Amino acid sequence: MADRSQNAPLRLALVAHDAKKDALVSWVQAHARDLTKAELFATGTTGGRILDLLPDLNLTRLKSGPLGGDQQLGAMICEGRLDGLFFFIDPMSPMPHDVDVKALSRLAIVYDLPFANSPSTADFVLRGLIADHTAG
Ligand code: PGA
Repeated sequence: MADRSQNAPLRLALVAHDAKKDALVSWVQAHARDLTKAELFATGTTGGRILDLLPDLNLTRLKSGPLGGDQQLGAMICEGRLDGLFFFIDPMSPMPHDVDVKALSRLAIVYDLPFANSPSTADFVLRGLIADHTAG
């Protein structure tokens, strides 16, 4: 994780393809207590779905993924402005913005950003980030 003070909130990105939005929203709901303390960033439609259910979260909505939201998150990774990426990718459908999906995934790997693609992995990544953050 980027070297930041213990008091600074975790900065987490949330993205889900359409077929995975329900799964991500359920995951966020299940972890709402922890995520309330975080600074969240989401692509437009994903963020809208989350805020419909949990309007009090500190969540910034970026552009919709296919309209540049994935690239905005990629830029944030390059600039060291994220501590984790929760990107629930649909492995069963072709995407018009597949290049953006690949670019975002690639940058998460290039910068060794904790990166989760499914609910079970997201549980581990969030738990690890919180433990790391708390340890300072
Ligand atoms: P969306 O974008 O949240 O605006 O649907 C997700 C994506 O990158 O496909």
